[in-house]
Amino acid sequence: QAKARGRGCIQFFAPEMNRRAKERHELEKDLRAAIAQDQLSLYFQPQISPGTGQMIGVEALLRWHHPQKGLIPPARFIPVAEDSGHLMATIGNWVIEKACAQARAWLDAEHPAVRMSVNVSIAQLRDDEFPAYVEKLLQLYRLPADLLQMELTESIIMSDIEGATERVGKIKDMGIHIAIDDFGTGYSSLSYLKDLPVHELKIDQSFVHNILTDVNSAAIVQAIIRMAQSLKLRVIAEGVEDKATMDFLVENECEGVQGYYFSEPVMPAAFETQFFGQG
Ligand code: C2E
Ligand code: MG
Ligand code: MG
Ligand code: MG
Repeated sequence: QAKARGRGCIQFFAPEMNRRAKERHELEKDLRAAIAQDQLSLYFQPQISPGTGQMIGVEALLRWHHPQKGLIPPARFIPVAEDSGHLMATIGNWVIEKACAQARAWLDAEHPAVRMSVNVSIAQLRDDEFPAYVEKLLQLYRLPADLLQMELTESIIMSDIEGATERVGKIKDMGIHIAIDDFGTGYSSLSYLKDLPVHELKIDQSFVHNILTDVNSAAIVQAIIRMAQSLKLRVIAEGVEDKATMDFLVENECEGVQGYYFSEPVMPAAFETQFFGQG
């Protein structure tokens, strides 16, 4: 009888699984062509000092304009790229080059220098050549290393897959800043902060969104801010959507804020008019 039920399950789920696998496969195939066909672009979101209102950084976020399917969010295509060998490394390296080119263009336009932060995936850090690649880009675009920041998740730092953490150390030694993205949601071990001192902690949105409604989330945010202060790290709250949340963060001396309250990620032209002014 169990067997019969099992067979029933297979019959029920197989078409659904097939459909999903097919969709993923199509997405992967289209993604391979996306760079060459100029369908990828970077949007930019400012990081603001809540005390002064000054911009203290900018995060580059990847966007895919699919010719038929429209705008596909990174949450849908990055996992696909990560599953398929070198695809994520290729796309990730394209992101860094594009971000460096944008930083150079803004310097050339004599906008105030603002640190450019890029998200880096484990696929990129698996590559032996990654630190040398980044070094080459800094030279090519004549960028001071500390104008570039790489956002890594805790799981990347903790996984020593093929020397990934050694490469993070190399990148840090070049003078590039390292931020821990989605801080508080990964491994609970904090020992890496002792072994690989980083520059910035980005408090995960899941805590920030609940600051006003959940005392535990508020307490965790306060604790992370205090810890960052003690360790002399910058601390940024992600996902700030309203004034009350910002007020809480100002009161608790959070150094930086990022979120829809200030701006969604926007195209370069919009970013320039909104955050560098017209001139
Ligand atoms: P992340 O690095 O933690 O980026 C923050 C995400 O939160 C972005 O989503 C951003 O648009 C969104 N966000 C910003 N402010 C708010 C807010 O106030 N409220 C809410 N609800 N969301 C906000 P996005 O652009 O869809 O990216 C999602 C994730 O995809 C990123 O999370 C990052 O992990 C990954 N990602 C994006 N671009 C890249 C990339 O170039 N390379 C890699 N490896 N990953 C990327
Ligand atoms: Mg990020
Ligand atoms: Mg994040
Ligand atoms: Mg993330």
